[in-house]
Amino acid sequence: MPETRLRFAPSPTGFLHVGGLRTALFNYLYARHTGGRFILRIEDTDQSRKVEGAVENLMESLRWAGLDFDEGPGIEGEYAPYIQSQRLDHYRKYAQQLLDQKDAYPCFCTETDLQQMREEQLARKEDTRYDGRCRHLAADDVKAKLAAGTSHVIRMKIDHARPAYIVNDLIRGEVHFTPDQIDDQVLIKSDGFPTYHLANVVDDHLMKISHVIRGEEWLPSTPKHIQLYEYFGWEIPAFAHLPLLLNTDRSKLSKRQGDVATEDYRNKGYLPECLINFVALLGWNTQDDQEIYTMAELIANFSLERVGKSGAVFDTSKLNWMNQQYIKQKSAEELFDLLQPFLPEYTNLTTPEKLQKIIQIVRDSLVTLPDIANRLDLFYHNNPVLQSETLINQVKSDPYQQVYKSFVAQLEQIETLNAENFGQVMKSVQKETGIKGKNLWIPMRIAITLAEEGPDLASVVDVFGKDRCLHMVKNVIV
Ligand code: GLU
Repeated sequence: MPETRLRFAPSPTGFLHVGGLRTALFNYLYARHTGGRFILRIEDTDQSRKVEGAVENLMESLRWAGLDFDEGPGIEGEYAPYIQSQRLDHYRKYAQQLLDQKDAYPCFCTETDLQQMREEQLARKEDTRYDGRCRHLAADDVKAKLAAGTSHVIRMKIDHARPAYIVNDLIRGEVHFTPDQIDDQVLIKSDGFPTYHLANVVDDHLMKISHVIRGEEWLPSTPKHIQLYEYFGWEIPAFAHLPLLLNTDRSKLSKRQGDVATEDYRNKGYLPECLINFVALLGWNTQDDQEIYTMAELIANFSLERVGKSGAVFDTSKLNWMNQQYIKQKSAEELFDLLQPFLPEYTNLTTPEKLQKIIQIVRDSLVTLPDIANRLDLFYHNNPVLQSETLINQVKSDPYQQVYKSFVAQLEQIETLNAENFGQVMKSVQKETGIKGKNLWIPMRIAITLAEEGPDLASVVDVFGKDRCLHMVKNVIV
């Protein structure tokens, strides 16, 4: 079997959309699964959409996500350069070939002409499309216009007499398009730059791309691409169009309903391996209900046969659950390092050993890394007090007060309090008050951690020590 060659071909518009991350990942997984190559190609021929720093930002997001490419900017390779704005000669050459073959033609219509065409079509209740008027210009007329330097574009001819354009899609099977619905696509714009369609096909051919895996939004463009491959007499790559990403209300995933940039998730403290795992399951799954996959497992299991056609819901609550699982799996040292950027400055006041201990106590409650800041509050705030009205009333009740008073009395008889002797102290409180079980432990937990639920109480007590525990419990005695 010939080597598989996959490419991720983003247009650098400022950031890496999570949909783009999913496309990159599926290309990457397919390449790695088949022992092929993964290529990054920057499609920056739309000069009006240029954004400073966008390419660097995109590459940084891919690096963070662990999607290393084998050929591309900065690495180069046999088919360099991998940035389309540096490959303009290729596109001009092939556009000329199409002109020579009469498969393309110069179009001199101005913006105003096109606008008028659209309005007239709308008035006739027709679909709006280019009506092909420049296809039929007399050769002399074209020559004269070109000689006079008239501004123009180059359009490809769509074969409107053909019964259908058929795309063979690895996910969707045969998809039929009526030629009537397809425009004579512009290939070279009046600024001399190619459009996406020409540059994309030329490069996929020159770079020997075997499989084109991309978002569903590109499916309607594929007939045009097929026509170009046919005009050039080139082999057509395999196509796979990935399902749309949806919000939980099944609308198209949009900025309005949440974050869409990979870097937003990075900044919010999601782990790259979690985001990759989550994004891998947007449209793909295995037969069993496994949810957590390492990159190696994704590579081993990935197949295009198991990518679905229907939209994939981007469910943030599932992402949160997954991130929590990944945080739980980290070793103490790894987690300590990961949390560094999110630790409040005041943590410098304690020894790293103590900080490590505290992190271990609260780690299971972290959904994202920045959550650490408010989890540390209890340990670093000078005089934390109950905020909740319900809990304030609860601690005033008689049995609670009995527990607190007895606890204080017990503490006064010992030198130090730690995880080891805490159990003993609580036993003595139980003996003295006759209160046991939940009725004994919940009051203590509320007084010491200011919440009804949370980390292991003995561990918190161990970090607090006798003085702070005494202080916390005295705080709630009325
Ligand atoms: N440049 C296109 C994009 O921004 C690439 C589409 C394709 O993969 O063909 O998504």
